[in-house]
Amino acid sequence: MSAIDRIAEFHDELTAFRRDIHAHPELGFAESRTAERVAQELERYGIEVHRGIGGTGLVGVLAAGSSTRRIGLRADMDALPIEEGNTFEHRSRHAGRMHACGHDGHTTMLLGAARYLAATRNFDGTVHFIFQPAEEGLGGAKAMIDDGLFERFPCDSIFGMHNRPKLPVGQFCVRAGPMMAGGAFFDIDITGVGSHGARPESSIDPLMVGVQIASTIQTIVSRNVRPVETAVVSITQFHAGDAYNVIPQTARLSGTVRAFSKEVMALVERNMRRIAEGVAQSMGARAQVDFRVNFAPTVNDPEQAAFAASVCEELVGADKVDRDPPLIMASEDFSFMLEQVPGCYINIGNGDGEGACEVHNPAYDFNDAAIPQGSAFFVRAVERKLAKA
Ligand SMILES: [Zn+2]
Ligand SMILES: [Zn+2]
Repeated sequence: MSAIDRIAEFHDELTAFRRDIHAHPELGFAESRTAERVAQELERYGIEVHRGIGGTGLVGVLAAGSSTRRIGLRADMDALPIEEGNTFEHRSRHAGRMHACGHDGHTTMLLGAARYLAATRNFDGTVHFIFQPAEEGLGGAKAMIDDGLFERFPCDSIFGMHNRPKLPVGQFCVRAGPMMAGGAFFDIDITGVGSHGARPESSIDPLMVGVQIASTIQTIVSRNVRPVETAVVSITQFHAGDAYNVIPQTARLSGTVRAFSKEVMALVERNMRRIAEGVAQSMGARAQVDFRVNFAPTVNDPEQAAFAASVCEELVGADKVDRDPPLIMASEDFSFMLEQVPGCYINIGNGDGEGACEVHNPAYDFNDAAIPQGSAFFVRAVERKLAKA
């Protein structure tokens, strides 16, 4: 019997677990109930559990045979600060919190794989089941890594997945190389000289400096980044002044940058500093740039991506696996794990047609029909990577 069919035999229990997690969403680094429920399930399957890694993160360890080979499988557990718009039975019980990105489903799919692998143990080596907190911009992956994740639980390769709305259930996308953008936030603080609004000659107007900086910064993408590469520089905030008749002393520009390589991200930062400081100086003002890279670009190792795609093809057939999906401008903090360990992040279909709602929308829900395929991907990745001699 195939892994998908065997997992389908306990699909109902996995669905019930997923809906329980959905009904009790917890924000990043506050996933204590979720983590404890996951830990108890893993222990029930006979898997050794290590709690409290990077805050509310946990790792399950399952070994079979005598091989020293190790594989990492990762799911995220956090919800979002969104008021759920759904009215179904398993809707969020907590005001202002919702599983609007399907991390409840990711957690459940990895648990399904753990249950199957603990029962069958048809592999030779060690599996590390990594349940991470705080994927949604709070740095959960980094927190686990900084807490010694890969020193304590070394992995030769690592795999994770995210559901993709509008992609039919039973289909996968796997992309070698860059897949999702890295993201940074920046603040540019401009200091001029304040004065009376009717006496501009006594001022160094930080607003005018800000306008010049904002406009010149747009030349980074058009003139500094190679045209065949991609970056986004968006100024999303411009704050200055409190009165009609006062030229303020300071102004602040803030925004976000996206890029698909570390090199392009560094090029944008370098040019932003040069332009902000240079333009300000040319106008007699000062500018200070605070540039913070929150997400690395998500880059799949080509060899591991080819492996992941072949696992997907084995499960659902080559015609249901897109090996060349478009790049995604959103970011993902599994990228930090991929910087440490070669691996691959894949997308699994969450369903198309009517009601196929995008993530981070109040009407979103993870599609339970995808659970067997997602769990089976993890299972077959383990059974093939750690194949018995
Ligand atoms: Zn999300
Ligand atoms: Zn997500």
